[in-house]
Amino acid sequence: MRKREAGTKNKVDTRNDVDTRSEVDSKHDAGPEFLAKLADDPRVTVRRGGAPLQAGKCVVYWMQRAERGIDNPAVDLAIKIGDELNLPVVVYFSAISNFPHANLRHYVFLNQGLADIEEDLAERNVTFLVRRPPNNSLEALLKETGAAMVIGDENPCREPERWRKVLAKRLELPFWTVDADVVVPSSVFPKHQYMLHIMRPRLNAELPKYLVALENTKAKHAWTKPRGFEQFNVREDVTAGWKNFDRSVKPVDSFIGGTHAALKRLQHFVRYQLADYDKQRNHPEIDGTSQMSPYLHFGHISPLTVALAVDEAVKEGHATQAARDSYINELIGWRELSVNFVKYVPNYDSIECAPEWAQKTLREHARDKRDPVYSLEQMERAETYDELWNAAQMQMVKMGWMHNYLRMYWAKKMLEWSPNPAKAWEWAVILNDKYELDGRDPNGYNGIAWAMGGVHDRPWFDRPIFGTIRYMSGASTGKKFDSKRYIRQVGS
Ligand SMILES: Cc1cc2nc3c(=O)[nH]c(=O)nc-3n(C[C@H](O)[C@H](O)[C@H](O)COP(=O)(O)OP(=O)(O)OC[C@H]3O[C@@H](n4cnc5c(N)ncnc54)[C@H](O)[C@@H]3O)c2cc1C
Repeated sequence: MRKREAGTKNKVDTRNDVDTRSEVDSKHDAGPEFLAKLADDPRVTVRRGGAPLQAGKCVVYWMQRAERGIDNPAVDLAIKIGDELNLPVVVYFSAISNFPHANLRHYVFLNQGLADIEEDLAERNVTFLVRRPPNNSLEALLKETGAAMVIGDENPCREPERWRKVLAKRLELPFWTVDADVVVPSSVFPKHQYMLHIMRPRLNAELPKYLVALENTKAKHAWTKPRGFEQFNVREDVTAGWKNFDRSVKPVDSFIGGTHAALKRLQHFVRYQLADYDKQRNHPEIDGTSQMSPYLHFGHISPLTVALAVDEAVKEGHATQAARDSYINELIGWRELSVNFVKYVPNYDSIECAPEWAQKTLREHARDKRDPVYSLEQMERAETYDELWNAAQMQMVKMGWMHNYLRMYWAKKMLEWSPNPAKAWEWAVILNDKYELDGRDPNGYNGIAWAMGGVHDRPWFDRPIFGTIRYMSGASTGKKFDSKRYIRQVGS
């Protein structure tokens, strides 16, 4: 199996290398007055200030995280600036073969979404360009298109944030990023929020300002492709011919990628499942949750689109306020707490991110006898004595998605069965990122940190191996829902 990059765990967080003050100061160096006004938006970070290139021929949005053409504030900003400068907008996606921990399963899903982006952007008079290695350098594309300015989106994870920092240093054009995949801009919270119940009142207070539909305006000016301009056909396989690309994890047919499939699934959820969400969300044997997580991870859908559809369903009488509140608590509460966690806690994917009380209790129980102890490979192949755990692992392997209730149980059992807590954590991240379509996401790092390291949780009763980390027993977990039915559904 593919191992995580050596040394990832202890990598120094390069975000600390950068003087964040220069970002703040550069807001005041945002060029002409109309730009300075746009830069005042808390969703916008001016990573490189200054005026757009005078002889520029277009505004380029380098799309990385928010892979969609509608309900995307980064597209909106590019269009606003383009219209103001009388320039067309080009959206560029670089399909790279070495995205950290990505494999064929992830790429097939991503690939399925590209045609929707092209179609939705065309409706907005915006051109979508995709390139692949070796001819995918963003800087080369900026030169070829004669970009006046570059817009990007945000991704709080370590490597993507580093790419943005590096780019800001290298570019000679203004470069702004837009926090497009959260409802409330993450800059509203300038430091780590330790508990959801502390963050929630502020988050809720901000919601009326941000729970507003986007206009999805059309660009005034269309871009004309120069003759012979190189462009990948989005309906073809982006991974074709990639050597050294991980094809070991097969694609799944349980999810079709793309904005259009996401919207279809969302409509079904709000019409038929939302009403019982608060009662059924902890029942893995019932198809009672939205399964929006892969789409949210790839940015195929905006959390704003999802939240507004949920509110609309309540207005139309399809669901109660209680069901809505329960869903919004996950979609905005837990999800945006996870973004905040990854943004501000450097070692978010290893035991070092656990609070002091949790590290201490795990240390105190480090020598407790573990019986059984499984290897990573045994757990990966679902070869444990625990039928329910094996079914959960197989749901993830076969479907590319695991129910939330079992994700908690899954991670806690790994803490119990691994040689030590640091290994358990490392292995949970490996398996989660490898098989889940929504893996490699702030939600995953936060979920594992919650389950294994008491992050955003409190100490419970002291017990072997776990210390005061919250425990979930197999016997009681299996009785809280029809676990036999779930095991049958997943099959072997
Ligand atoms: C150990 C562990 C690992 C996890 N790994 C991931 C992961 O890799 N990627 C991922 O997106 N989520 C992860 N989660 C969080 C959660 O389990 C999934 O987001 C959820 O199960 C996705 O299913 P859904 O879309 O049907 O959720 P719904 O119940 O329909 O919720 C709607 C949305 O709210 C958000 N959400 C729901 N539960 C949580 C939560 N506990 N924390 C943060 N956001 C939440 C998700 O974006 C989800 O799509 C993990 C949780 C744990 C405990």
